Amino acid sequence: MEEAPRFAADRMLGRLARWLRLLGADVSWYPDLGGSEFLRRARAEERIALTRDKRLRTAPDVGFLSSDGFRGQLREVLARFPFDPQRHAFSRCSRCNKELTPIEREDVRSLVPPFVYANHQRFARCEQCGRIYWQATHPERILGELRRLGLGW
Ligand SMILES: [Zn+2]
Repeated sequence: MEEAPRFAADRMLGRLARWLRLLGADVSWYPDLGGSEFLRRARAEERIALTRDKRLRTAPDVGFLSSDGFRGQLREVLARFPFDPQRHAFSRCSRCNKELTPIEREDVRSLVPPFVYANHQRFARCEQCGRIYWQATHPERILGELRRLGLGW
């Protein structure tokens, strides 16, 4: 299975990082690092450095993004480092970047709202933060966003 690329997002790109994770990409986000320090860390972890920092734009292994908003940024990333979101979506926690673990439906009964439990069959959990994901809601939101980006599935 083709792997989604590994990214590092600079401190200005927190929202983009969460969206790329929802699409299944492995994204580190460093809210405290900037400039050359950020680039050093990204290289040490062998990640593509995504940044809005113009000083870094000439480095060959940097994905410099010109858009201010996360929708434009997402479009730039997918155009330059293409991967198939349909294959990878719903596999990673948008908050922690941890891969999700499938969880039995019975085990989430007390953890999710009753209407969610009643209407969904497949659930997964982030072992790090405990957040529960279900297969319908989040991909629906992702789908809507991708349609707005003109990428549609
Ligand atoms: Zn998590």
